[in-house]
This record gives sequence, C-alpha cells and structure tokens, in this order.
Amino acid sequence: MKTITHWMDGKVVQSRSGQSGPVHDPATGEVIAEVGFADVDQTDQVVASSLAAYTGWRNTSLTRRMQVMFSVRNLLHESKDELAGIVSAEHGKTLDDARGEVQRGLESVEFACGIAHHLKGSQSQEVSSGVDIMSVREPLGVVGCITPFNFPVMVPLWMIPNALACGNAVILKPSEKDPSASLYLADLFQRAGLPEGVLNVLQGDRVAVKRLIEHPDVAALSFVGSTPVARSIYEEGSRHGKRVQALGGAKNHMIVLPDADLDLAADAAVSAGYGSAGERCMAISVVVAVGDAGDRLIPKLKERISALKVGPASAPESEMGPLISSQHRDRVVGCIDSGEKQGAELVMDGRGIQVPGCEKGFFVGPTLFDQVQADMEIYREEIFGPVLSVVRTEQFSDAIDLINANPYANGTAIFTNDGGAARQFQREIQVGMVGVNVPIPVPLGFYSFGGWKNSLFGSHSIYGPEGVQFYTRPKVVTTRWPDPEHRGVDLGFPKSG
Ligand code: NAD
Repeated sequence: MKTITHWMDGKVVQSRSGQSGPVHDPATGEVIAEVGFADVDQTDQVVASSLAAYTGWRNTSLTRRMQVMFSVRNLLHESKDELAGIVSAEHGKTLDDARGEVQRGLESVEFACGIAHHLKGSQSQEVSSGVDIMSVREPLGVVGCITPFNFPVMVPLWMIPNALACGNAVILKPSEKDPSASLYLADLFQRAGLPEGVLNVLQGDRVAVKRLIEHPDVAALSFVGSTPVARSIYEEGSRHGKRVQALGGAKNHMIVLPDADLDLAADAAVSAGYGSAGERCMAISVVVAVGDAGDRLIPKLKERISALKVGPASAPESEMGPLISSQHRDRVVGCIDSGEKQGAELVMDGRGIQVPGCEKGFFVGPTLFDQVQADMEIYREEIFGPVLSVVRTEQFSDAIDLINANPYANGTAIFTNDGGAARQFQREIQVGMVGVNVPIPVPLGFYSFGGWKNSLFGSHSIYGPEGVQFYTRPKVVTTRWPDPEHRGVDLGFPKSG
C-alpha cells in the first residue's frame, strides 16, 4: 500500500503520529493509499523548518523570486497531463476537468511572475522640510494554507505563488482525501529553484490545523473549505492574533429570464450544475426560472441531462465522475430523499445509478428537481453533488430578493438578452462574483476571487491583487538626514512645514 508522507526541508518525511487515513479511488471504492497525519510535535517541527527558511527567502532578491516563479510556470505547463492524472486518480473528476483545474492554477503562477510590479511601493519627497516618506509592503512570515478536496491543485495554487513571491514561507495542509498532488507540487517548486523549507507540506486532519492556528510562529492562515470550518478558523485564528482569510461554501443561483436564449441557458445550467459532479464551489445548484421560463426550460434540461455520460475518469467518454467518498455519496442521496419527501418534483433521479465495472464506486447520477421551495432542505443546504434545483418566481424582483436572502454569496449568474435587466442584476445582487450569460464567473488570475457573507470570512479575497495585499503588510519609513537647521530639543508633537 502506498504511503503518502509530509514534505519538509525538501524531502519526504514519514508521519510519526501513528494516525493515518485512507485515500480512495472514488470510481471503484478501493483504498489506494494511506496518508499519515501529523500530530502536534510534527506540526511544530514543520513550523520550525519554515521559520528557519523564511529569513533567507525574504532576503532573496525580488528578481530571483520571480525567476523561480517563471520556472514553476514552465514546469507546471509541461506537467499538466501528469498532474491531471494524479488529481483524477484520487478525486475522481475527469481528466479534461482536472487539466482545466491545473490550467486555472497556472494563471495564479503567471500573475506571481510579475510580482515586482505589484510590490512597488510609493514615495513622497519633501513632505516637510528635508523629510521624505516611503511606503513599502513586507512579507508576513510563515503562512499556513489549508485547502479542500475539490481542487487539490488549483486552490493551493491560489495561495502558494503569491505568498512565496511576496517573500513568505508556506506550509500547505492539503485535504486528507486527495493528498498526492500536494507532494508533486512541493517537488516541482523545489525543481524550479525554491530553497528547501520555504514550501513545506503537512498532511493531516483537524489536529494539524488546530496546531497551526495556535502556533505563535504562524503569522497568517489562508483557508478554503466548508462554511462551518471556515468560520471557526477565522474566529480561532483571529483570536490567536493571526491574519486570516477563510473562504467557505456556496449555494450559487442562476436566474433565467423569459427573454433569455433558453438553449444557451440549458447548456450552461447543465454544464455548471453537473461538471465535476457538482463538487465545485462555483457550481450552479439553483436555477431561478422567472415567469414562463421554467415550463420551457425543464424539457431542455431533461434532454441534456439524459445524454450525460457518467463513469470513471479512466474511461475517455466519461463526462461526470463519482463523488469523493461513500459518506458524501450517502449524504447527497439523503438530500435527494429529503427533497422528494418535502414535496419537490423529482424530474430526474440519480440515486441507485449503476456504472458497469464500478459497482462499488461513489456515484450519484445527475438529479433534477422542479418546484423547489425556499424552506426545503435541498434549497437551504449546500449539497455539493450533482443535484440541480429549479425554483420558480413570478417576477424578476422576487428572484433577486431570493438570492439576496440566502446566507451564501459566492457566485451567481443571470441569463437574459435584456441589457437593462442584466445591469439591474449586477447592481442589486449581494454576491461576490457575478456572471452575465456566464454560469461560472471565476475571475482570471489578474483579478481576485471571493464571495460575500458566509462564503468568505475576512477582508481579503484570494489570489490576484488582493492576494498580494493579504500576504504583505505595509511599512512606512519617514526619513530626514541631519542638517544644521533641524537640531535642538523640541518636546512638541512633530509637525510638518
Ligand atoms: P472541509 O471544510 O471539510 O475541509 C477543508 C480543509 O479543512 C481540509 O484540509 C480539512 O482537512 C480541514 N478540516 C476539515 N475539518 C476541519 C476541522 N474541524 N478543523 C480544522 N480543519 C478541518 O471542506 P472539503 O469537504 O474538503 O471541501 C468542500 C467544501 O469547500 C465545500 O463546502 C465547498 O463549497 C468549499 N469550497 C469553497 C471554495 C471557495 O472558494 N469559496 C472553493 C473550493 C471549495
């Protein structure tokens, strides 16, 4: 059985805690590896290694740090297929989807290649007689990056390139469900010239995370995962005096107005609802059909869903893979049961799907509910599976009110050909990322990503310019070189002039 290790000081390191967890092939249900978890002692050891490496790295020239990022970019580009294979094997998503995830992570590396531009400071001369002021941004120190299972390459790359390029040392604590990609990334950064210890990988569960939160030598935490954990990491991390950004779960709505191109809307809803088996934080999980759009949309959704090919990533024709674990599959099936029980109209039922050769895999087929009400569990909960709910509203304003009343606010979209309605939506909607005829509006690497409300705790979005702000703090230096005019004791508060 393959054992998945930590990575410290440029080498693999075995876990010493005796605690471990299974890693599955979700398509077959087989255990394919065991990942060793860190305990408090081993977490402390990794933090000490990162702290020791930090000083040398923050004093490494900006140009050298950028060269490393350029090399990472090239290696990652060459490794796309290999890395996609590693992701598929443990996550279950199709190879094409996994390649897409690597590509989106690559964008964040490319942004960090230009970090010198983003770290430019500012200066004002002669603010008082003989006095200049300079403002620079400096790294924070050791940053802990805690990431979810659903994007084992992209989400770490939302954090690591900017954090490193800004001069920090990083400890990555990946999901224990698909941890192999983290070791591949650590090795790749090292091959690109990153000094040992500047990027360490700590495998583990809540024990390692709790220690990172409490450890006095960890300056900041970037977290992406579910809302309850995000909230608690934000609260606990802040209590321990750390800078924290914690991105949480989602319930993303897509409004379809009666004037929309309904074929385009149906394509978009099916792609964004069932891609990656709905295990995306930007997946569409609710279609809000306004007026008579629903009656015309449902047959189009049914037609497209019936044609979807569900299967393992190893079969090239598969368009949708399994869920991450048997527990998660059972939870999603439980949500479908509850939707049916609470009176939603089950149009397509993905329960009990059989995938030949993968009878023990964690599959749920694409599921569609119509006539979903806001008080039903399937509407209130983040299902994180291939379940799309259609809610009907009479008016456009009711659709906006419904979305604004939802506690999650990650992404949303509108499908319409009416520019005025799109503009109204864009201005009135209380959500962090908005698409107009774009179902998954994930910003490119030179913008930043972040939801509102229960989808993000903290004041910084992730990657792009906001990432640079998060991973640095300002220092303002006021300078006067001694001259004969400015001598003598003066107990008054320093004045300009
Ligand atoms: P999760 O919250 O269960 O786990 C995320 C990370 O936190 C993992 O590394 C895990 O080991 C750790 N963790 C889990 N429980 C913990 C605890 N009690 N204390 C400390 N650490 C803990 O999330 P997941 O199931 O891996 O990922 C799916 C969730 O992530 C979904 O809710 C999804 O919406 C969300 N997500 C959000 C975004 C975003 O950008 N907002 C992106 C991707 C995923």
